[in-house]
Amino acid sequence: MPDRYDVIVIGSGPGGYVGAIKAAQLGLKVAVVEKMRTYGGTCLNIGCIPSKALLHASERFEEVGHLGKLGIKLDAASLDLPTMLGHKDATVKSNVDGVAYLFKKNKIDGYTGTATILAPGKVAVAKADGSTETLEAKSIVIATGSDSTPLPGVTIDEERIVSSTGALSLPKVPGKLVVVGAGVIGLELGSVWRRLGAEVTVVEFLDRILPGMDNEVSRQFQRMLEKQGVAFKLGTKVTAVDTSGKTLKVTIEPAKEGEAAAQTLEADIVLIAIGRRPYTEGLGLEAVGVELDERRRVKVDGHYQTNVPGIYAIGDVIAGPMLAHKAEDEGVAIAEILAGQAGHVNYGAIPSVVYTSPEIATVGKTEEELKAAGIDYKVGKFPFSANGRARAMLATDGFVKILSDAKTDRVLGGHIVGAGAGEMIHEIVVLMEFAGSAEDLGRTTHAHPTMSESVKEAALAAWTKPIHL
Ligand code: FAD
Ligand code: NAD
Repeated sequence: MPDRYDVIVIGSGPGGYVGAIKAAQLGLKVAVVEKMRTYGGTCLNIGCIPSKALLHASERFEEVGHLGKLGIKLDAASLDLPTMLGHKDATVKSNVDGVAYLFKKNKIDGYTGTATILAPGKVAVAKADGSTETLEAKSIVIATGSDSTPLPGVTIDEERIVSSTGALSLPKVPGKLVVVGAGVIGLELGSVWRRLGAEVTVVEFLDRILPGMDNEVSRQFQRMLEKQGVAFKLGTKVTAVDTSGKTLKVTIEPAKEGEAAAQTLEADIVLIAIGRRPYTEGLGLEAVGVELDERRRVKVDGHYQTNVPGIYAIGDVIAGPMLAHKAEDEGVAIAEILAGQAGHVNYGAIPSVVYTSPEIATVGKTEEELKAAGIDYKVGKFPFSANGRARAMLATDGFVKILSDAKTDRVLGGHIVGAGAGEMIHEIVVLMEFAGSAEDLGRTTHAHPTMSESVKEAALAAWTKPIHL
């Protein structure tokens, strides 16, 4: 251990580990303190990676039942859940091991324990064996992420009433799963267990699913999920879960007081997925005087510095979308800033993907946001039902929607519902990063036959006219 580090990063999630690696690449001496046994944070251990392993596996499981349409005859698929969960665990392990390897490669010192900031430049690490070590550095980066928001009056035991963490490891497929919250986690993990055989009901407080997404996207997507068998109770809240019997009894009421009587839903498992909150517990922020905002996120300036000089924060613990790639890019930016360079994140071009089937991918403004801002915009839309490759793949559900400035033709937003949307979105992201226009995208040659031709066609529709519609 050196006498003094250039930077101590607290937390090894996508923000912390990427920031640490970039800082080391730029010549800084870096320590990372992580309280979990493995590196990678929420995303690699209990978030993005395990959920995508289960989403992939369950999608393949369900697909078997539809292969007959392609002339492939198979007996119905049978589920080997322990092996599927094993695939998920192995995927997590290879990813977290990868971070440990990268730390070694970049000569980053990792400390396992809970970090408390004692003063600017001073961090105590409380270890599992009861000992404490004090580290010193010029700068401290808080990258402690978030954890799931609890539902008042409902206790999560991670067995029958679970957060996303428990929902990633259910030992058997629930007969009935009630999901509280029609956000990203609820719809992704609800999809996993529905595909494996659960009857899924999603209870959502608002009168729509996926708040924040383009309205048309969430409306159409809700219909697709309903066709797949997911039931929705919108404008509804869960007020209690009775755990006394063999089956859980979930009391639901209209979100607006006094509209109708309470009802009861039966469930084997209840998944609480009503959002995530910044994680600042035990960090000692009050003692050093680091300010939080009204939602208890760490307040930072445009250079990720808190009100206390030398203490910075990035990722889920600060304002902005709680996304791994947003945290990663802030990690790179803070490393550059600490190395004396100009670190920057373009918050106007951060994609967001829901890894359901079909996928949803969006970037930039929604129609509702453009309307609210009084911006005159054009809409170009193209359905996958008119795309040759989509027909060949039986993947005609969904559409691409491009929003462009009516005066300048600059692309302001892109929204895709469809198979592979999470990969296709990136050409719109790059276009927006370079302030490109619908004409630029519409004139760009796209390989034929590809799903991506629908992106080009939607751009043509926004700029002038699509060819294939
Ligand atoms: P985190 O990944 O939360 O890491 C913070 C780390 O800090 C943790 O390891 C924690 O143990 C550690 N820590 C906290 N306090 C201390 C302390 N005092 N001392 C030492 N260590 C500490 N995002 C996507 O972009 N795509 C997805 O597909 C996606 N899927 C998700 C699925 C699920 C089920 C969940 C729950 C989240 C998902 N997310 C996804 C969100 C994503 O996980 C977060 O946005 C991302 O992990 C944030 O990164 P971070 O580095 O800010 O924090
Ligand atoms: P979310 O904010 O996406 O959705 C929470 C939903 O719960 C909202 O629709 C909200 O209206 C609803 N809700 C809130 N209180 C409620 C109540 N009392 N009763 C019923 N409904 C209620 O949150 P999440 O799904 O928990 O995900 C948390 C974060 O993790 C998100 O910010 C997301 O960005 C991130 N995440 C991202 C991905 C991805 O990028 N694919 C996947 C999973 C999670």
